Order: sequence, then structure tokens, then C-alpha cells
Amino acid sequence: MDRSQFLKKVQEFNNYWDIVVIGGGATGLGVGVDAASRGYKTLLLEMHDFAKGTSSRSTKLVHGGVRYLQQGDVSLVIEALHERGLLIQNAPHLVNHQSFIVPSYEWWNGPFYGVGLKVYDMLAGKLGIKESKNLSREETLERIPTLENEGLRGGVIYYDGQFDDSRLAINLAQTIYDEGGIPLNYMKVTDLKKNEKGFIEGVKTRDMLEGKEYDINARVVINATGIFSDDILEMDEEGHEKIIQCAQGIHIVLDKDFLPGDSAIMVPHTDDGRVLFAVPWHNKVIVGTTDTPIDEPSLEPVALEEEIDFILRHAAQYLTKDPSREDVKSVFAGLRPLVKPPDTKKTSQISRSHHLQVSKSGLVTIAGGKWTTYRKMAEDTVDKAILVAGLEHEKCDTYDLRIHGWLRNTDDEDHLYVYGSDRIALDALIEEDESLGEQLHKDLPYIKAEVIWAVRNEMAQTIEDFLARRSRALLLDARASVQMAEEVAKLMQTELNKGTGWVTQQLKEYKELAKNYILLA
Ligand SMILES: Cc1cc2nc3c(=O)[nH]c(=O)nc-3n(C[C@H](O)[C@H](O)[C@H](O)COP(=O)(O)OP(=O)(O)OC[C@H]3O[C@@H](n4cnc5c(N)ncnc54)[C@H](O)[C@@H]3O)c2cc1C
Repeated sequence: MDRSQFLKKVQEFNNYWDIVVIGGGATGLGVGVDAASRGYKTLLLEMHDFAKGTSSRSTKLVHGGVRYLQQGDVSLVIEALHERGLLIQNAPHLVNHQSFIVPSYEWWNGPFYGVGLKVYDMLAGKLGIKESKNLSREETLERIPTLENEGLRGGVIYYDGQFDDSRLAINLAQTIYDEGGIPLNYMKVTDLKKNEKGFIEGVKTRDMLEGKEYDINARVVINATGIFSDDILEMDEEGHEKIIQCAQGIHIVLDKDFLPGDSAIMVPHTDDGRVLFAVPWHNKVIVGTTDTPIDEPSLEPVALEEEIDFILRHAAQYLTKDPSREDVKSVFAGLRPLVKPPDTKKTSQISRSHHLQVSKSGLVTIAGGKWTTYRKMAEDTVDKAILVAGLEHEKCDTYDLRIHGWLRNTDDEDHLYVYGSDRIALDALIEEDESLGEQLHKDLPYIKAEVIWAVRNEMAQTIEDFLARRSRALLLDARASVQMAEEVAKLMQTELNKGTGWVTQQLKEYKELAKNYILLA
């Protein structure tokens, strides 16, 4: 994918796009893939980088949501389990099977969760992963030797999917392109264009890197801007009633020795009624999460001290080695774009199912939902958009559409597995220039070839794009990511043909951003 080529195509195209999608997170990218694969002329506009918002800040689970089952939201669980199965099939290079252990410290917990998880297995139907089962105390400790053993009675093991969220987002952008559409990052929609009857017929957009403005014509415009949905609805109708409630969730990242082995821990009820996960991910462990209502949307939400304390305190309760602030490699926060019911309850009680609405102007808004259900959300949205725009109906094609990079049986021990079928192209880069095989930092596996690849094929425009979302350095070890930033900047400077001032500016901006991911003692 080449951003300048894409921009040129957009400039040259002076007809109507069938579908213009605003927002390049899971939701918008999913809609883009769906629309492009049905054969519609599709353009996606993202104001920052793909997955800069909520979609790079998840718990990385492709799951039905055991918690939603507890809340009685069975239809959401069935839908999510079905989508979990499809995603495992359609992006096997990025989605792994993950075992979870629910430890039990009370005699009645084991059977209670055991029965609940049997229902969870059953709801997955033929797309199920593996059956859950009860574990004795010894079996539980065998799988998780660092689990707090005082008072432990046993556990239940069940299975879900785990993935790399921003890598999937990049692959979805590539799939849009593979299917004939155009995904553009750093293009902010600044206004909606309407005809004399008040119907939307396009958008105004600004190139956030070059400052140039574009007028885009569209038969239908889809608002997939997550926590920013209300901003676009406001462009459509001044003073509209807000639909989004942001709910912040944070994670801390620890070294793998806090949770060696392959199994994750899932605590369905902390002492204040929340769910806690500790999940192995890219040779580290991520622990989260929280559910804090936040008033204003932001692309860089910051973890609150009380959220950090909550996670550290509860991690210490379940792990033999108590993590301290110094042990935290990175802390990251994300905002859930929850759709408010009229009688707003606690954010943790608001349903995670998606919300689709059509405004009088024909603006189609899709919000809420989960990463796991992005495909179904996209299918529903494009079906609706077709009706709104009066487009000829084409059938949804994403049920078994292979996502860019599709490859089975990848070797997860090799960190380059996330590139799937593109991995051999990275090898070819190293064959051409051996130095590209060099590691960028001793504590993280990333190599120079990945930077070159990210610029040439994945539309990385800034060092943050590489360090936060093409690689996951910022999330895995924020300090190490700062230490490797200069090397990354120099490689990108050459590739992007930028001056030395660019490197200085990039480093300044990146160091400022990384401060929010580093915990001071
Ligand atoms: C802490 C946490 C943990 C989670 N864990 C999981 C999990 O384990 N599994 C799961 O399935 N789901 C999980 N989720 C939910 C999932 O991450 C979200 O539902 C999903 O990422 C939302 O995607 P989105 O595209 O709607 O929003 P976003 O990813 O925020 O995308 C919206 C995009 O719109 C862009 N935008 C906004 N305004 C404009 C404009 N004017 N012009 C152009 N672009 C614009 C933004 O820059 C942004 O990139 C989690 C969420 C959180 C917060």
C-alpha cells in the first residue's frame, strides 16, 4: 500500500464513490472490507493512523465474552462465539487458541463456573475450540505455577481466541486494497456535504500530513468513528442528542515470568465485581482491565492512578510474585465506545452489542460492538447502506473471505509470524541487505527489515505508527521503544525521503507520547 499513490487516485477520481467510510478502527475497516469485497467503489478515511483509537488498545481477545453470559446477554454471546470461529478461520496467522483458567478459592465456585462454561462451549456449536473442564488444585498449579496457591481449591479451564489487534487492523486495510477499495490514513473528515434537499452526498476531508483539502462525492457515507461518533453526528445535525458514553479500560504489561506457560488467568468476579484477565501476549503478560466512565473522547487516553492501583492490587492477589510499579513494562488505556441506553446504567452494565442508525440526511452510523464482532457489524452496516443509497444489492462476501496475510500453521516462536504469508517478503528484504536482519533493541525481537516493510507496504508515516501499531514495542516495553526510536526514525527518514529536522521532530513527539505509557516508581 502506497499512500501517495492512493492520494493520487483519489484526486483523479472525480466521480461518486459508492461508499465512503469515516474511521479506520475495527469497525470502519470491517465496513471497508465488506463494501469493497461486494464490488462497491469504496474509500475509507482515517484522521490519524489505522487503529490509533480504541482498536489498538483492547485486551486482545477474540471471545464470546464469558462475562456477557453472566449478565444474561445470550444472543450477544452466540453472535460473538460464531464470529470468533470465523475469525480463527479467516485470519489464522493472527488469531491463536488461548486457554484460560478460572481459579477457584471457594468450594462452590468450581462447579458454578464449570456449569457456566459448559453452556459457553455449547453456544459455540460446531465452531467451538475445545471443551472446558474442571481441574484439580494440582492440575491448576501445574498449568499456572505462579498462581496464588493459598486457599486454592482447583479451577476450570476453557478456551477462547487471542490476537494482535492493530496487526489485524493493518491487514484489514490491506484487504480493502486487495479487494479494490482505498484505505487512507491521516485524512480527517472536517464536514459533510449535503444537497439542496439535505441529503448527504459526500464529505470534506483534510490531509493531516500535507494540509491539502479534498471534496469527496459519495452515494452514502458511513460514520464508523467509535468514541468520536457524536462529532460526526453533530456535523450532520447541530445539537443532536449524544449517543456515546466512553468507558476507559487500562492494562499493564509485565514480564513473562509473572505468568510462565501458555495459560491465561480469568477472574470473573474481583472483590468489587469486575473481571480481571492476565494473558500471555508476545512473550509478555497483559493484565487488565477497568471500566471507568470518561466524559470526553480522546485519541490518547491516560491511565488513572486509581486504575493502576486496582490492577496492581488484584494482580498481587492472584499471583505468587506481587508486581510493583517498577515491574510494569508499559501501561495503556483505551476508551470503549459504548452506546448509551436512555437510562444510563453503570458502564460495565451497558450492553456490548452494536448500534446501527440512519439519520434523516442518510448518514449511516455504526457504533458499539466489539473487535470480535467487527465482521457482522460490517455486514449489517453495508446491508443498510445499500438500501439508503439505492445501490444494486450485492451479497456479503466476508463470511469466508481470507484476510490479507492468511496463512495456517505459523510458528509462533518466531515473532515474524504476525506477517503470515507476507513473511517471505521480509526474508527477501534481508537477503538483499543483511543489515536489515539486525535487531533494533536487545529486549524486543523487532528487526530493521520490519521498519522498511512498514513504510513500503503498510503505510507507516511516523515512528509512532511503527512503534505502536506495526510493531507493538510501545505496548510491550515502553522504555525500550523510546531507546530504539532514533534508529527507527533514521530508517524511516531515508525511506520516506525526509530531512533531518523530521527525525528531531518525530523523536520529540514520540518521547512525549511514550511518557503516558511509562510508570514512574
Ligand atoms: C480496554 C478495552 C478492552 C477491549 N478488549 C476487547 C477484547 O479483548 N476483544 C474484543 O473483541 N473487543 C475488545 N474491546 C472492544 C474493541 O476494542 C472496540 O469495540 C473496537 O476497537 C472499536 O472500534 P471502532 O472502530 O468502533 O473505534 P476506534 O478504533 O476508536 O476507531 C474509530 C476511528 O475513527 C477515527 N476518526 C474519528 N473521527 C474522525 C474523522 N473526523 N475523520 C476521520 N477519522 C476519524 C479515529 O481516529 C479512530 O481511529 C475492548 C475495548 C477496550 C477499551
